Amino acid sequence: MKKIFALCLISAQLFAQKAPKNIIFLIGDGMGVSQIYAGLTANRGHLNLERIKVIGFHKNQASNNYITDSAAGATAFATGKQTYNGAIGLDSLKVPSTTLLEMAEKKGLATGLVSTCDITDATPSSFIAHQRTRSMHEEIAGDFLKTDIDVVIGGGRKYFEKRKDGLNLLDSLRQKGYQVHSDLTLDGVNKGKLVALYAEENPIKVMEGRGDALLYSSKKSLEILSQNKKGFFVMIEGSQIDWGGHANDADYIVTEMVDFDKSIGFALDFAAKNKETLVVITADHETGGFALMGGNMKTGEVKGAFTTKGHTGQMIPVFAFGPGSEAFAGIYNNYDIFTKIKQALQLGQK
Ligand code: MG
Ligand code: ZN
Repeated sequence: MKKIFALCLISAQLFAQKAPKNIIFLIGDGMGVSQIYAGLTANRGHLNLERIKVIGFHKNQASNNYITDSAAGATAFATGKQTYNGAIGLDSLKVPSTTLLEMAEKKGLATGLVSTCDITDATPSSFIAHQRTRSMHEEIAGDFLKTDIDVVIGGGRKYFEKRKDGLNLLDSLRQKGYQVHSDLTLDGVNKGKLVALYAEENPIKVMEGRGDALLYSSKKSLEILSQNKKGFFVMIEGSQIDWGGHANDADYIVTEMVDFDKSIGFALDFAAKNKETLVVITADHETGGFALMGGNMKTGEVKGAFTTKGHTGQMIPVFAFGPGSEAFAGIYNNYDIFTKIKQALQLGQK
């Protein structure tokens, strides 16, 4: 009897250790298996992604299409609802659905969004905005003011300050207490609320000199968010892997993929040390119908072929690391990722 009681105690303690306090959710837009393997090849045979042992796949149909776009894909992750292409935080009946970020905020977690595109673009905005269609950038920017998000880093400054309605939302953000920056010289910003929109529109490509903007943004967001005792939720997007696919440009894909993998490496280092952080990495869909037709692990050469300028319907890999990661093995729907993260962080509970 005593023995059983002791065993129960031990397993209860083990279980208690399993609930993560923080989540780093990394989305590589358009990052299918070929994009990952092309990046691995270009990086001479390795990626940080290989450090992860728990791997699954998600099925990713939209409610109105076999092939999802980034809006329906991210809305599925953010709200648990299968919805139509173009929807931002709305279900298939156009009803606003609560997002993981909003739930995290309600629970007292610090929250953040980081991207290498307009921060009002489909992927980040699906976690914070509720609009009929992804092209409503100015309305989406307005939705940022309706939350208490702590850290926002990306492009798309013009949707906040050069608007048809004449409002300057950057001023409104300052009045709300945000430190507002229009570049990435943020070494002096170590706490508090931060909005850094370092490009008027979309930030440039790595191939055009973006440098380590994403890695720097990822580090800065974790530096600030991790100071919150109750934990944090951050979504970090490698946005332009998708655009390499749309452009049918293998060099564009691999440079953005390797760039994204640097932030993955940083997130894994953080989680390995912190031990209370769940890291989940996936994509919304594959882009380009990209196939590897040749390559060289020694020289990093990649020869690719494409079947489309658009998205494809491939199953998409999911990588998970840290407490709660086991739930991400197997094959499931993209919107199940919402439930898995919600359960891991015990969101929606007190
Ligand atoms: Mg995106
Ligand atoms: Zn796309």
